Amino acid sequence: MTREQIRSYLELYRDLGVDTVYTRARAQPKEQEDIKAQPLPKPDEFTALPSLVPAGDSLDQIRLDIGDCQRCRLSEKRLSIVFGSGNEKSSVVFVGEGPGADEDEQGLPFVGRAGQLLTQMIDNTAAKEGIPISRADVYICNVVKCRPPENRTPLPDEMQTCGQFLYRQLMTMKPKAICALGSTAMKALLATKEGITKQRGKWHKWNEIPVMVTYHPSYLLRQYNQQARREAWEDLKTLFHFVYD
Ligand code: URA
Repeated sequence: MTREQIRSYLELYRDLGVDTVYTRARAQPKEQEDIKAQPLPKPDEFTALPSLVPAGDSLDQIRLDIGDCQRCRLSEKRLSIVFGSGNEKSSVVFVGEGPGADEDEQGLPFVGRAGQLLTQMIDNTAAKEGIPISRADVYICNVVKCRPPENRTPLPDEMQTCGQFLYRQLMTMKPKAICALGSTAMKALLATKEGITKQRGKWHKWNEIPVMVTYHPSYLLRQYNQQARREAWEDLKTLFHFVYD
């Protein structure tokens, strides 16, 4: 394995939030003698770290690997694993926070009130801008695939555990752009300490893929805030022109 390959694996792990890599303990003097006596392996005989994205990965394979997931506490109360839905070949992927009660019941992302607003935002913006797409043409998924109890924000370890599957979904689909809906999706994808109001409406990058950050539809429902709604509509306009022009 070359230094560049090792660097790229470590960067991959860092992007997923893995910040500690353990190395083997130093060999004891006697072992060191034995080691010295052995011929050094040729570079291609070093064991590669397992890739986070298996060769030939696909959405079906990722769903299979998730299985009847019990990897974190969110599995205890969930009804369904909400993997994602929409056009799997879409040039744009929307990433939300995690399923709510309606999504948990139906097994589909963004089907409750926030989902209805998201559908309107997508359909109306596209129609107004003369872009011939609707919600069914994009792909939608979440950072965590199981409903957090009482719709609380997912905890960092839950995001980290489930993040590997979001990572694979995005790497497999390789969309032209990603839309991060709200601050949980923003934090999962981007290393930023800034709040959503500062980061929305701007282009960021996730593994070389442009990311547009905007408000979460639930926030737009809760805060009857015309200004925030106008801004979210502007963000979608910018996103759609970038992807479809
Ligand atoms: N909120 C989300 O973040 N995701 C959903 O799927 C539904 C509501």
